[in-house]
Amino acid sequence: MTVTLPGPTARRPGAARGCGVAGGTLPDDATRLDVPGAPTTTGEPAASGTPVGHARRAGAGLDGLTVADVDRADKLAAMRAGELGSVHSWELVTAVDGPGTRLTVFLNGCPLRCLYCHNPDTFAMKDGRPVTADELLGRVKRYLPVFRATHGGLTLSGGEVLMQPAFAARVLRGAKAMDVHTALDTSGFLGANATDAMLDDTDLVLLDVKSGDPDTYTKVTSRDLEPTLRFGRRIAERGLTGHAPEVWVRFVLVPGLTDDVENVEKVASYAASLNEIRPGTVTRVEVLPFHQMGRDKWDALGRTYELDDTPAPSAELTERVRDQFRAHGLKTY
Ligand code: SF4
Repeated sequence: MTVTLPGPTARRPGAARGCGVAGGTLPDDATRLDVPGAPTTTGEPAASGTPVGHARRAGAGLDGLTVADVDRADKLAAMRAGELGSVHSWELVTAVDGPGTRLTVFLNGCPLRCLYCHNPDTFAMKDGRPVTADELLGRVKRYLPVFRATHGGLTLSGGEVLMQPAFAARVLRGAKAMDVHTALDTSGFLGANATDAMLDDTDLVLLDVKSGDPDTYTKVTSRDLEPTLRFGRRIAERGLTGHAPEVWVRFVLVPGLTDDVENVEKVASYAASLNEIRPGTVTRVEVLPFHQMGRDKWDALGRTYELDDTPAPSAELTERVRDQFRAHGLKTY
């Protein structure tokens, strides 16, 4: 189903994708919204013939957002204050990145180097464009009727959102002041950067757990697993005494890299353990099949892409992995 909002539809090439989500199948109720400057899911078939939906988003850009014109010193001060962010792109999408129709904003800067990343152009914060929090919140305000009609909201993604915690906090606060549902898509590696106030303003955390085995995690991301685990536990524990965001765990399934039974089992056990800390913490698990759609960006950036020969997972493998999560009582897609 496609919903066209008033105004001309712009569609531009160049997929942008949220952090850590290298693949996936659009839910049956997934919807594409065509709005000026915010074309989104294409639903193009992957090599395996599986619709990849939100893994292949055309046209994400900065259209409609005014890029701030500031000199370097002012820029740094404004970024520290959270008034200015380094933004890669934004898009409007339904049934992914959280409930309802989402305005998903991709921020620049990431400390991880996931082998399968399909947004390597978000690695460096300096490569983003300066956008003010007020400008972004103006965009959120514009879509209030859409969010209300669809029970959607704002999702901050990346790159790694928590590279810009002051900016993220300001945008989340502004969104909550408008009573907008908010989501953070994060690897959790910089979870310590998320203040309690920020978590108070967050309704949903999309926690990308890239592997359960620490060595595999490091092989995939070049970083340590533990900070991610710690962040998830912190969220679960917060829920014992007050507000805590709901958590959706995301796991990218890469044949020969993350598909080992034990590795998957560790992610599933971890997700289930958060519900043992506080029942209802993890309300959903998304197993996202790897695909090759990020390869071109690596080539274009002159970076070495190591997964050239890695196939997309078979339907059987994907189901095996989903069943591993389900065996832990987790609602899994
Ligand atoms: S490198 Fe960063 S942006 Fe890319 S998938 Fe990993 S965490 Fe996400």
